[in-house]
Amino acid sequence: MSTAIQAIRGMNDILPEHAALWEFFEDTVRDWLKSYGYKCIRMPIVEQTGLFKRAIGEVTDIVEKEMYTFTDALNGESLTLRPEGTASCVRAVLQHNLLYNAPQRLWYMGPMFRHERPQKGRYRQFHQVGVESLGFAGPDIDAEQIIMTSRLWKRLGIQDVALEINTLGSSEDRARHRARLVHYLEQHLDLLDEDSKRRLHTNPLRVLDSKNPALQALIEAAPKLLDDLDEDSLLHFEKLQEMLRDAGIEYRINPRLVRGLDYYNFTVFEWVTTRLGAQGTVCAGGRYDGLIAQIGGKPAPACGFAMGVERLLALLEEQQFVAPEISADAYVVHQGEAASRFAFNVAETLREQGLHAILHCGGGSFKSQMKKADSSGARFAVIIGDDEAGAEQVTLKPLREMGDQARMTVAEAGDVLGGKAV
Ligand code: ATP
Ligand code: MG
Repeated sequence: MSTAIQAIRGMNDILPEHAALWEFFEDTVRDWLKSYGYKCIRMPIVEQTGLFKRAIGEVTDIVEKEMYTFTDALNGESLTLRPEGTASCVRAVLQHNLLYNAPQRLWYMGPMFRHERPQKGRYRQFHQVGVESLGFAGPDIDAEQIIMTSRLWKRLGIQDVALEINTLGSSEDRARHRARLVHYLEQHLDLLDEDSKRRLHTNPLRVLDSKNPALQALIEAAPKLLDDLDEDSLLHFEKLQEMLRDAGIEYRINPRLVRGLDYYNFTVFEWVTTRLGAQGTVCAGGRYDGLIAQIGGKPAPACGFAMGVERLLALLEEQQFVAPEISADAYVVHQGEAASRFAFNVAETLREQGLHAILHCGGGSFKSQMKKADSSGARFAVIIGDDEAGAEQVTLKPLREMGDQARMTVAEAGDVLGGKAV
């Protein structure tokens, strides 16, 4: 029986066979973010537990049951693996006073950790691309964020995602609505499950977010926040919709869209697909004007969203998407003492010209080396025997298309391979 150690459940190795897909995604995302003027920020993966409790809210699925929290054995501090990036990003912005003279358009990409039941599209370590605009009151920036996600789908070739939007109003609207909602839910106490009963007074809006099928009819008939909005809130929502219509973006207003985190207000949105089963939300976000003050900063408006990378990649695979191959320009084979020393030199010269070269390591016959050259996917084999080495030349052989092999200088080989002049 093997006792080899395995990865932790719900935490995946991303193997080289998926490298091309991940790199295509990451490259596209970086370029897309630049085209909208967003700058990259990188935060630590571990933060003080208190940050997430304060930012996300004590009465949420994440804080109640999904966080990886542990005590630092050296100083007794309570630390947590980040379950999302917004709290850390805002913490970093405040700590470094980045909002001092200008608003900020920021993004980050990386692993997040949540202790959930692993299933397709739901993991314990997963990746998000997060985008945050801090210091903008909207609704123009809300619209920008939605319009830019729609452009990303185009660039990635993602189909079958639909936009749902809603507004959560201001905190005053919510207080009014909350009173009406509590009154309604209290009249149906016998129908509520344990979670909902607990949330009825701590966080009644979250009852509407319940996934329990038995509660859906009750949720459907509950008072609607839209009916409790004041004029300013309605105007923000109207303006946003006008900008989306101008940009030709289709959307559906989903009055039940409340989002899982406590810190949202006004605009909330999700991009959903029906092609991934139950885990259909690929991107979610909205406005969170209260958060900065909530974690101790000078009040400032903010808006952001996060995409689930694994879900987007699953969608691409589901559409039979084939990522551009990552293959080397040359695989350098060599035999003999002088040839091997020259081969190192040749491979470095090719790399100097910006080419991708794999140098054969580990010896073996020319025949076995050529097999490796072929299976590496490289476009050409660069063949060096003592003969070539003595003349400071190489033999170049195309591997992916027809054509004869030919002997030439290293500079000529660089030209044929498309290297740039140095
Ligand atoms: P869900 O309702 O699916 O649990 P959420 O509301 O908890 O999602 P957010 O906190 O808004 O999700 O995170 C943004 C995005 O990150 C989600 O829309 C999803 O694409 C992705 N995501 C969230 N949790 C996971 C997970 N455990 N595994 C993979 N992707 C995830
Ligand atoms: Mg969740």
